Amino acid sequence: MAEPLRGGEYQDCGITDPVRLAGVVRGANVTKFPAPVTISCDFARVLTGWLRQDVLPAVEHEFESAVAIVASGPGYQCRRRNNQPDGKLSEHALGMAIDITQFQLVDGSDISVEKDWGVETEKGKLLQAIHAKACKRFTTVLGPDADPNHRSHFHLDTGCHGQDCTYIICQ
Ligand SMILES: [Zn+2]
Repeated sequence: MAEPLRGGEYQDCGITDPVRLAGVVRGANVTKFPAPVTISCDFARVLTGWLRQDVLPAVEHEFESAVAIVASGPGYQCRRRNNQPDGKLSEHALGMAIDITQFQLVDGSDISVEKDWGVETEKGKLLQAIHAKACKRFTTVLGPDADPNHRSHFHLDTGCHGQDCTYIICQ
């Protein structure tokens, strides 16, 4: 646990319970981020649940190789949605979002959102499956079908949609 994180260009940016997540351990395998991601503790729980229970077992089952690296953005970024100068603060600015670009397997191959999404291959099917599972855990899941901003990654966040925060955006 670290001190609350503050600061950046907009005053509402920050994380009250930041963690730096280096990766996840599952059985004998360690799956790392290229660099530790800074996110809120609550968001880390949701993210590691998805990785440990949905993503890593599916990859190992389908490709008989563990995932060495989950390529992602840094997590925390003090910015507005889609890097626009005005509008709502991004969930990234609260440590409640991450962008996932690809999975690098121990055997040297990779599964890339940019290259493999929408393709009728085992890799394409795997991406569809873990995207669908993400929609059961996160409240916002945006992939290449959402808009051109998400052509190369899955944006995952736990932001509140609707009056009682029960609405899910899954695209
Ligand atoms: Zn994002």
